[in-house]
Amino acid sequence: MIICKTRKEISAAVANIRKQGRSLGFIPTMGALHQGHISLVKKSIEENDCTAVSIFVNPTQFNNQNDLKTYPRTIDADIALLESVGADIAFIPTVDVMYPEGLENVTESYDFGPIGQVMEGIARPGHFNGVGIVVHRLFELVPADRAYFGMKDFQQIAIIKEMVRQRDIHIEIIPCPIVREEDGMALSSRNIRLSEEQRKQAVQISQTLFKAQELAKTASVAEVQTFVETTVNSVPLLSVEYFSIVNAHTMQPVTSWDETDWVVGCITVNVGDVRLIDNITLKK
Ligand code: AMP
Repeated sequence: MIICKTRKEISAAVANIRKQGRSLGFIPTMGALHQGHISLVKKSIEENDCTAVSIFVNPTQFNNQNDLKTYPRTIDADIALLESVGADIAFIPTVDVMYPEGLENVTESYDFGPIGQVMEGIARPGHFNGVGIVVHRLFELVPADRAYFGMKDFQQIAIIKEMVRQRDIHIEIIPCPIVREEDGMALSSRNIRLSEEQRKQAVQISQTLFKAQELAKTASVAEVQTFVETTVNSVPLLSVEYFSIVNAHTMQPVTSWDETDWVVGCITVNVGDVRLIDNITLKK
């Protein structure tokens, strides 16, 4: 596996692949890699001649400085894991490489329209702008054929698709299913930060979503909404930040199952100072 740290190194590595006429898949990550990330890497390896993975904890997408400071960083283990599954390129830039003008001079600004004005767009002001900025810059440096994103960050996929549309970028965005622990908990880099007791209780997030999926077959949208909020909030260490039942195409809340063909329930839960997100299809 080639490890690239600078713009020059990554551009040369990508140019080399292109010169040989080989296809390229790309997976942007913030590291602390787990099997959720690896599922994207494996899919890319299946579908492309070469696979590049970036590891960059992007400061511009953190609205909470403590979250940025405490974000898990396990770079040596990440490199070993990527090597073991057969990734071809790891791009590991510093903040200076991604933002040579200095963070305080970053001026790009995105308007993602209604999809950016709900859920994470409200809960984390500036978050999606930072995601748009960094993914656009990464796509310029790694002009892949396909890029792979996890459906755990359900709204993020809609944002990336919109960014790619607005900037006329010719990279196919491939959504990939959520990878879960055996007990149902969605894998997340932030799970490392949970205490044993917090982790034990946090399983109720996914367990409640699974029950909501069943309930959605017979109950109304309002009933499912109340069920999820009250059930998760009744777990002592869990506090629901929001639970939104949305049209999966537009991210806008629905009030009836008949409004669209695909409805998803998106939840954000605070467990101490760890913020966890998950989602489940309630109708498709
Ligand atoms: P992150 O490092 O958290 O920015 O995530 C990098 C990519 O991995 C994003 O596209 C995430 O949606 C995806 N991802 C994170 N956790 C999971 C998971 N449990 N299952 C599938 N994809 C995931």
